[in-house]
Amino acid sequence: MKIQIYRLLERTKMAGPGWRFCIWVQGCSRRCEGCVARETWPHNGGTEMRTGDLFHQISSVPDIEGITFLGGEPFEQPGAVAALAKQAQAAGLSVVAFTGFTYEELLVMNHPHVLQLLNATDLLIDGPFIQAQFDLNRPWVGSANQRYRFLTDRYQESDLAGITNQIEVRIAPNGKTLVNGMGDFAEIQKLL
Ligand code: SF4
Repeated sequence: MKIQIYRLLERTKMAGPGWRFCIWVQGCSRRCEGCVARETWPHNGGTEMRTGDLFHQISSVPDIEGITFLGGEPFEQPGAVAALAKQAQAAGLSVVAFTGFTYEELLVMNHPHVLQLLNATDLLIDGPFIQAQFDLNRPWVGSANQRYRFLTDRYQESDLAGITNQIEVRIAPNGKTLVNGMGDFAEIQKLL
């Protein structure tokens, strides 16, 4: 099975509980005003990977608590993302998925792959980014409408206590900077 990837990050604490392998998928039709990841919107961009190869890469990273899917929109590639999520859970890793859809919108789709992905997700963080509701007071999210949906008993609301939004800036040997996490990206761009 193939998955279209925008970016991978093997270890970060910026996108869910603990150290996580992050997978930004390519392609999003939600078109949220103020989205800072517009380059992930085209469905025909990014890099195509086999899910088996990607899972092999995930398995080679030591001491991670789980994997996180971000966008782009993971639920617009639900078959491939569900396959990876199931493999990760079977290997003892937790699965966090961000989506611009609400949980209710995903259920109403009644699509087998969407339901499989929901069944293989421990923590769903749902809802579009709404610029008018910009709010950085909760971890990993940028607008007040977005919700934490605990779909299994792996995580609970209390696991989020004390976690604040953070941003990490990585500088590659060639000087290229990579900003990751949640914060006021307009201010960060000015600093950089
Ligand atoms: S769902 Fe996420 S990636 Fe898609 S437009 Fe909204 S903020 Fe951007």
